[in-house]
Amino acid sequence: MRKLIIILFSIMLIIVGCSSEANLNSNGSEDNLVYVSFYPLYFLADEIGGDHIDLRMVVPNGVESHEYEPSMQQLKDIEKAQLFIYNGAGFESWADKVVGNIIEEDRTINASESVHLIMEDNNPDPHIWLSPQNMIKIGETIKDRLVLMDAANKDEYERNFNELASRLMELDNKYFEELKDKSKDSIIVSHAAFTYLADRYGFEQIPVAGISPEQEPSSKTIADLIEIVKNDNHEYILLETLASPKTVQVIAEETNLQVLTLNPIEGLTEEDITNGEDYITIMEKNLENLKKALVMK
Ligand SMILES: [Zn+2]
Repeated sequence: MRKLIIILFSIMLIIVGCSSEANLNSNGSEDNLVYVSFYPLYFLADEIGGDHIDLRMVVPNGVESHEYEPSMQQLKDIEKAQLFIYNGAGFESWADKVVGNIIEEDRTINASESVHLIMEDNNPDPHIWLSPQNMIKIGETIKDRLVLMDAANKDEYERNFNELASRLMELDNKYFEELKDKSKDSIIVSHAAFTYLADRYGFEQIPVAGISPEQEPSSKTIADLIEIVKNDNHEYILLETLASPKTVQVIAEETNLQVLTLNPIEGLTEEDITNGEDYITIMEKNLENLKKALVMK
C-alpha cells in the first residue's frame, strides 16, 4: 500500500512538474494566455480562438474605455500574456507603458496597423472597429498570430475566422442594402466615434463632443449645432450607452429632437451581457436606428 502511495505521489509530481514547465515559456509568458485591451478585440479573439485560448480583457465591461487606466495588478498580469492585443492609434493612453516595457513588442498586436486610418486634425481617429470590414482585417491578423503561436489548432482557427469573416461581410452588405435609399446625409451623434462607419456607408456624423466623450463642447459649438439641427430638419439625435455629455440633453430639449441609441461598442453594459448581445447584434441594432435617422419614410 505504502509503495502504491509513493508511486502515485511520484506520478503526481511528474505531472505537476511537466505541466508547469509546459505552461511557462523562456520569456515568462503563459501558453495561450491572451490579453485584449477592450471589448471589440475580445469579440474577435474569442470568436477565432475559442476554447484554445485563455482570454482576458483589460477594460472591464460597463466602463468607458477612453479614460480607463489599468491597475498595477492588471499591468503585472499582462506581463504573463503570450499575446497582448490593443487597438492603438492613441485609443489606449496607457499602451506605451505596456508595449516594449511590460511585454516585448513581438508579443503584441497593434490592431490599427491592419487597417487604413482616417486622420482627424493630424491625429488618427481610433474608432476603427465600427467598420465591419476593418474587423475582418484585424480578425485576420489575430488568426495568423494564433496559428503561429499554436500550429496544432491551425485548422480550427482558420475555420473560425472564415465563419466570422462571412458573418461580418453579411453585416456589411446589410448596411449597404438598407441605407442605400437614405434621404439625409448626416446624423447628430454624442461623440465623434462613427467616422469609419459614416465613411463606409456614405454619410456624415455631426458630433456634440470630440473624439473622446469627455471633451465637452463650447457654448459656441452648442449654438452652431442647434442652428444645424433647425436648418437641416434633423429629427433625431443618436446617443451612446456608456457615456453621453449632459449638453446633448440640452440640445435635444432645445430642438425637440427624438433620442435614439447609437452604440459605439467601446464596451458592453451589464444589460447587453444579460441580453446576450455581441458586436454583431449591437451593430444590427445600430443599423435599425440609423435607418430611422437617415432614411425617410
Ligand atoms: Zn470613442
